[in-house]
Amino acid sequence: MGNVREVRIARRTGFCYGVREAIDKAKEAAAAGKPTHTLGQVVHNEGVIADLAAQGIETVETLDDVRSGAAVVIRAHGVRPDVLERAEQRGLEVIDGTCTWVIQEQREITRLVEEGYAIVLLGTPLHPEVVGLLGFAPDAIVVDEEADWDSIPRRKKMALLSQSTQPPWKFEKLAAFMVGRCHELKIVNTVCPVTIRRQEDTVEAAREVDLMVVVGGRSSANTKELTRLCGIVGTPAIQIESEEDLTDAAIFKDAAVVGVTGGTSTPIEDLRCVAERVLRLAGTPQAAARAEELANAALAAAATPAGRTTSLPAVAVG
Ligand code: SF4
Repeated sequence: MGNVREVRIARRTGFCYGVREAIDKAKEAAAAGKPTHTLGQVVHNEGVIADLAAQGIETVETLDDVRSGAAVVIRAHGVRPDVLERAEQRGLEVIDGTCTWVIQEQREITRLVEEGYAIVLLGTPLHPEVVGLLGFAPDAIVVDEEADWDSIPRRKKMALLSQSTQPPWKFEKLAAFMVGRCHELKIVNTVCPVTIRRQEDTVEAAREVDLMVVVGGRSSANTKELTRLCGIVGTPAIQIESEEDLTDAAIFKDAAVVGVTGGTSTPIEDLRCVAERVLRLAGTPQAAARAEELANAALAAAATPAGRTTSLPAVAVG
């Protein structure tokens, strides 16, 4: 038993709308009786992938793994245009789950290439969204950490865009850096508003609690950024992938109120499970006894219907 008497879940967490839409499209296709695949994991979350598999939706790594006539769902990150062309040539039914914000990014980058701008993209080089964008701007220079920025050449006309989940402060800093790199600089702010709102709500939650638990993939940039922001406001934070990582009650020994937040690929239902786990592991006797009820209340206070994993009911395959 411990000292935690309350757990709060940051508002506007759970899947972003792009991820949720792609999942819903896959479920709708499977429910309509189509053999359905997703090209790559829709999210790096084993529970979600298992849930989709139970509904007959299979994850494939390449189009070669999809048999002719089947449906293939493009995930929210989008793909290079040649991938779509190949899918059509192979007679696959393409269900495009590319997030509308990413489609907008793809259009912007195409237009800027046509207008003769040298493109600089702030992003993680092998992230699927970045790989997809490079299909529209093969000569774009991708930079991530500040140490990379000196590799940006000097050009007359340059344009700067960002992968949707990059931190806004980094984009602003890079924009300022690039002013000295060219004569004409076009800045298109493609940092997704969902990313910005999630950061704001995480900071708001962090200010009111003794310790934050940040849930998301170990290599997820947007998750790491949430952990960093908690530190900036002076609240200790631990980053985990799932409730199973919480085994040591000692971490919570100085905390009475704990906050929980998560990256754009973390289902809000996972945050509820983490809240319950914290209360069972390190709650006061009263809080531990009511762990499920308190975790459900924290979820209800945080989640709008739009924040849920899916807007569709589970469909059993028969
Ligand atoms: S983070 Fe934003 S741009 Fe990226 S998939 Fe989610 S909603 Fe779309």
